[in-house]
Amino acid sequence: PSLEPTDVTEVLASVLDFSREELERAGVEVVRELSPEPPRALADEGQLRQVFLNLLRNAREAMLGGGRLTIATQVQARDVVVALRDTGRGMTEAVLSRIFEPFFTTKEDGTGLGLAVCQQILQAHGGELSCQSEPGRGTTFFVRLPRA
Ligand code: ADP
Ligand code: MG
Repeated sequence: PSLEPTDVTEVLASVLDFSREELERAGVEVVRELSPEPPRALADEGQLRQVFLNLLRNAREAMLGGGRLTIATQVQARDVVVALRDTGRGMTEAVLSRIFEPFFTTKEDGTGLGLAVCQQILQAHGGELSCQSEPGRGTTFFVRLPRA
């Protein structure tokens, strides 16, 4: 990746703008909880867009019939953290333990590559992707990147 100081809020805003129609059509309400301090990370903007697009798409696909996606940014001592929380179907432990495996999918037409690629991108940034989920309640993905 070509790492540059990047305002993560701006990348999120641009990806949300790009996905707006699709999210509206799916009945997904987006709530933003932005940190008071701009979350500036060392990131490759194009790759970061790809990460957020994948996570947004998965959230939408998990919320058939609509729901709420809450996007929270947080500036920590060393890192910027973005939490994307959906009110979708959630995952069992068995699914959760495999989501980062390439080609693992529970979807009829899934590739199972989205999260494997996201994790690879974030690790190449010195960051990480992690997940918490509860079946029937929803899922939260945490994107962690080093601060600029
Ligand atoms: P794909 O979307 O092609 O299935 P991904 O790597 O993006 O591949 O996701 C792998 C699997 O992780 C999905 O098939 C799904 O079971 C699960 N998953 C990912 N994101 C979510 C989410 N937000 N809510 C529930 N399940 C999810
Ligand atoms: Mg996917």
